[in-house]
Amino acid sequence: MEVVLWRLLPLLSLLASFLFFLYLHHPSKQVSHNECSLLFFNHFWIISKRIVTPQGLISGAVEVKGGNIISIVMEEEWHRNSKRGHVIDYGEAVVMPGLIDVHVHLDDPGRAEWEGFPSGTKAAAAGGITTLIDMPLNSDPSTVSPDTLKLKIAAAEKRIYVDVGFWGGLVPENAFNASALEALLSAGVLGLKSFMCPSGINDFPMTNTSHIKEGLSVLAKYRRPLLVHAEIQEDSDSNLQVENGRDEARSYLTYLKSRPPLWEEAAIRELLTVAKDTRIGGLAEGAHLHIVHLSDASSSLDLIKKAKSSGDSITVETCPHYLAFSAEEIQDGDTRFKCAPPIRDATNKEKLWEALMEGHIDMLSSDHSPTIPELKLLNDGNFLRAWGGISSLQFVLPVTWSYGRKYGVTLEQLALWWSERPAKLAGQDSKGAIAIGNHADIFVWQPDVEFDLNADHPIHLKHPSISAYLGKRLSGKVLATFVRGNLVYEEGKHAPAACGTPILAT
Ligand SMILES: [Zn+2]
Repeated sequence: MEVVLWRLLPLLSLLASFLFFLYLHHPSKQVSHNECSLLFFNHFWIISKRIVTPQGLISGAVEVKGGNIISIVMEEEWHRNSKRGHVIDYGEAVVMPGLIDVHVHLDDPGRAEWEGFPSGTKAAAAGGITTLIDMPLNSDPSTVSPDTLKLKIAAAEKRIYVDVGFWGGLVPENAFNASALEALLSAGVLGLKSFMCPSGINDFPMTNTSHIKEGLSVLAKYRRPLLVHAEIQEDSDSNLQVENGRDEARSYLTYLKSRPPLWEEAAIRELLTVAKDTRIGGLAEGAHLHIVHLSDASSSLDLIKKAKSSGDSITVETCPHYLAFSAEEIQDGDTRFKCAPPIRDATNKEKLWEALMEGHIDMLSSDHSPTIPELKLLNDGNFLRAWGGISSLQFVLPVTWSYGRKYGVTLEQLALWWSERPAKLAGQDSKGAIAIGNHADIFVWQPDVEFDLNADHPIHLKHPSISAYLGKRLSGKVLATFVRGNLVYEEGKHAPAACGTPILAT
């Protein structure tokens, strides 16, 4: 017996090393090496009958390697090609560039109980969004200096599931101090944001056109944009209602009247007096003005159109809630719908769609601006005291698509409004399109699959109950989201580790 065992020893050791080899190379072992992705391949092909590229919709394959798109082939070529690696076949599902949301309040650090980087970026990934640009206010402190930007970056470290860039704040404190602004821009903010009315946050005061003019002249050197909340408080009925009692304060009409279109129009009119500096040969050539969340589709929009035709470097965004809802359908006391500027009437909504379809509105953003449910005053329903902000991040794609279908929205338009133009605004040349050399920021979805957005639906936002979209039936289901080649989300599941990259301008 001993002799037999002795002879078997070399064989046993061979078997042991073979098993050890298998253990090392088993796929599950490799997964633990890359917790950033639900996929353990670094080089793979995504194939689909419907891929949205800048050249239009194609049937073919996208090759991803090392986080980038390295080739794109049409279906015929794919069939001729013999070389293959790992292939993910999405069939008829739509493959699109990841959405880029340039207007998000993640409230981190300081008010992470309102949203926070982890839940906000998980919600984004589940909604096909691969890049967020975080607003400088609602976190504490506001992002208005290199030090406060550092706090943002530290808070984002290993806590973001998609890429996140940051806007800095243009506030009276830094507006007339060119070196302070330069320091903030050199520290990596992608541009600046300012308010022409009170922001609702004490450490983020409003600016006037003199501040904005100064800001633009510094931004010109960096060729970065200024985003402006364009409303100016004019005399209105706004202060009557509080005295008029609780019923008035619960009425949506009261709130609507308190922020009339005139507020937007007055702000834009003033803004355009300095916007001309951005023209070629102007004092601030190289800077760019971007008007956030336009709600008034009449006089305000006409002013913007005129500025564009005069050569001002100016763009404008609107948000899904202005396109999905109208004042007529908002119930009194339902403060989930409170935002500023307010959601206006149905005629205005139709005009916004028209302007978007005709190209006068350049892009869309969520303006996801959550808070804790207590501050939304959902039980009390006081529109005048409730926190203003719509919670929507995870649903902007199905919302735009569901409400846009009757206007004939195409997949290419979705990519333009939600990827290509936002990438340009944020100065992200390697994002915003399925193109060779770009980051492999891609998502896959089924436009025709409907779902009820109710308590059974997996919602990753921190406070689903405050979302205005709850209870709606929407169309468009996200299957998978890739950020720089990492499969960060698939069918309800997120990658174990948060491997998004903080984006800093250089
Ligand atoms: Zn906002």
